[in-house]
Amino acid sequence: MKIGRFEAHLLSDGRFRLDGGAMFGVIPKTLWCRHEDVDDKNRVLLDLGCLLIKTPRGKNVLVDTGLSSKFDDNPKFRSVYDVERTTTLRDALKEHGLSPADIHLVINTHLHFDHAGGDTEFDEAKRPVPAFPNARYVIQEQEWADANHPHERNAASYLEENYAVLGERKVLDLVEGDLELEPGLSVVRTGGHCAGHQGVLIESEGQAAFYLGDTVPTRAHIPLPYIMAYDLFPLDTLDFKRRLYEKALKGDWLLLFDHDRTMRHAKLAFTEGRYKAA
Ligand SMILES: [Zn+2]
Repeated sequence: MKIGRFEAHLLSDGRFRLDGGAMFGVIPKTLWCRHEDVDDKNRVLLDLGCLLIKTPRGKNVLVDTGLSSKFDDNPKFRSVYDVERTTTLRDALKEHGLSPADIHLVINTHLHFDHAGGDTEFDEAKRPVPAFPNARYVIQEQEWADANHPHERNAASYLEENYAVLGERKVLDLVEGDLELEPGLSVVRTGGHCAGHQGVLIESEGQAAFYLGDTVPTRAHIPLPYIMAYDLFPLDTLDFKRRLYEKALKGDWLLLFDHDRTMRHAKLAFTEGRYKAA
């Protein structure tokens, strides 16, 4: 799709499942289960979404990198998350005529394993190396600090092999808060899901799109109280959604989802006092 002079492509690294209760926080199952594919372990099916942006200056920017093949031969990991990699980010890039070497910039919304898994890959000696050899990696400084000092509540989401080598190889661009990376392309710090979570805003020729990351992972999470139990700061997520929706509605922004398996983008509508997909 075209956002003014930018091209944006929603790519996928496959699918996985997460606990439905954890995905929907305080919302009762009787409400959220209506639209979800729930399995016998109460898990819902999610996309491992990524976003490819081609900028007017000829840069290829990747937002999030999925799980990667690093876990393909880890049966325990695959069964806990019911990982299905019928499509992969690598194949999706190939379909757009790109190899990993063609990516100039990787932006991680955050460093959880389902978003930064593909930042690295194993070399022949099974050591992690950057998967995009010519890319700089843009991460919030806060997220880098948190990933490197995990605590009991978030440790399961941070796997060192996905990011430690990025620091060693000095390919990181740590940013603080909102920043325009090139004209029309900005990272926006959202907080909420984790303190250093960021979204990505594309603005060009009067059009705009916002990649929500895990602040609003699926279309079902559009209503304000639909906030994941995974979020460390749910009231910050709520506050961010409120502020974002006002701008998105006014500016007719396209919202881009990372984990929705059927609808990866939508515009916003506000009817009968509620936000929903238009
Ligand atoms: Zn996620």
